[in-house]
Amino acid sequence: MEELRLRPIFLNNKSYCRSLANTVVRAYPEDRHCTFCGLPTKILKTSKKTCYSFIIGKFTLIEGYAYCEEHKRAAIDSNEILKYRSLFATEIVEKGYKVTLDLMVKIGVLRYLHYRQLEEIKVFLKLQYLD
Ligand SMILES: [Zn+2]
Repeated sequence: MEELRLRPIFLNNKSYCRSLANTVVRAYPEDRHCTFCGLPTKILKTSKKTCYSFIIGKFTLIEGYAYCEEHKRAAIDSNEILKYRSLFATEIVEKGYKVTLDLMVKIGVLRYLHYRQLEEIKVFLKLQYLD
């Protein structure tokens, strides 16, 4: 959270941005109550994944999922438990992906505004931002 508040100030400060690399970001559902009954939810599980950002490089995202004891089977189209996810986590990394939205935008700019080819983009990423 601190990183997001400071981002506009230090966006162009590369050494500051690099000092954030390999940081651990923890995200839990902001609303700790069930949408249906309003009762407090419980933590179901946490997941951990390595993500890549254009601004800060590689970082670890630890994300917590919550559920309601009463309404955990409320999803009508599957037998999966209805989980509540952090909006913050959703905003920075799409579910199932390891690449942050800012990096996806950067790749799009390289491809469609600067007409870079796939191999050039791969080299750019390898040299500049990823391990
Ligand atoms: Zn409920």
